[in-house]
Amino acid sequence: MVSYKELGLVNTREMFAKAIKGGYAIPAFNFNNMEQLQAIIKASAETKSPVILQVSKGARNYANQTLLRYMAQGAVEYAKELGWEHPQICLHLDHGDSFELCKSCVDFGFSSVMIDASSLPYEENIALTKKVVEYAHKYDVTVEAELGVLAGVEDEVSSAVSHYTKPEEVVDFATRTGCDSLAISIGTSHGAYKFTPEQCTRDPKTGKLVPPPLAFDVLDAIMEQLPGFPIVLHGSSSVPQEYVDMINQYGGKLPDAVGIPEEQLRKAAKSAVCKINIDSDSRLAFTAAVRKVFAEKPGEFDPRKYCGPARDLMEELYKHKIINVLGSNGHAE
Ligand SMILES: [Zn+2]
Repeated sequence: MVSYKELGLVNTREMFAKAIKGGYAIPAFNFNNMEQLQAIIKASAETKSPVILQVSKGARNYANQTLLRYMAQGAVEYAKELGWEHPQICLHLDHGDSFELCKSCVDFGFSSVMIDASSLPYEENIALTKKVVEYAHKYDVTVEAELGVLAGVEDEVSSAVSHYTKPEEVVDFATRTGCDSLAISIGTSHGAYKFTPEQCTRDPKTGKLVPPPLAFDVLDAIMEQLPGFPIVLHGSSSVPQEYVDMINQYGGKLPDAVGIPEEQLRKAAKSAVCKINIDSDSRLAFTAAVRKVFAEKPGEFDPRKYCGPARDLMEELYKHKIINVLGSNGHAE
């Protein structure tokens, strides 16, 4: 048994309380490799932003859970070395799908876990979430739960259609499970193809796809039911056009990729939404930078020469999200 407190990590309780009060959101960035983690920590340290490092099922399969935990531990020390005196870094399990997995993460030094039982019938979702909460809270580990179904594909989590969270269920769910935060479905979606062209309209001037707006009325109704309760948005990448263009320019093929406009995320961050998950955008930045090097310097074969530029572009992206979208900069001095 390893306590996250010994590793210098923090849970989400205080982070979220401050974020709701301050009208900003904490970035939750997924990581699978060293360059991504370096970029996240550099961006967070430089902007003094609290940050959540997310480990998904796909990341555990790709990089190994043990290695990822030690990397997060190393990240705390790296942050201090960068001059961030009191790093506010949370290590979070993204989309945990069983009690056993959540327990193993609690026992192994994670400071926060998500139990995603949203695909189960309502009562079963409550029973499983409650079981995880009871275990995690013994060790002061915070728990995110999910109600409602997001569309899209993210690692092994996928659904063809979304079902908005029902506001009339949230009080019962939060009270009976004791969860610390709630992921909701209001129209965000996993992956780089969040909407089909049929779901979008086209901007007559640019010809670009304009996605349907998020259901802020559902968010408002949820906040009215659960005043001050931490809300989480998954699938909140914006799929920046500049990265999609770069990828396509240098030999890639991403037609009609579309994400959530940053304007809408900015609006959400000012509300009780206090954790916004971003994964696809960093994948796009990484791929765009690597493709550019490969196209411009076909003789290059030193991974540092293409992973380095990828890391720089991801760092730029993370800083942009922190400062211009979530507003979390300066909240972890
Ligand atoms: Zn997700």
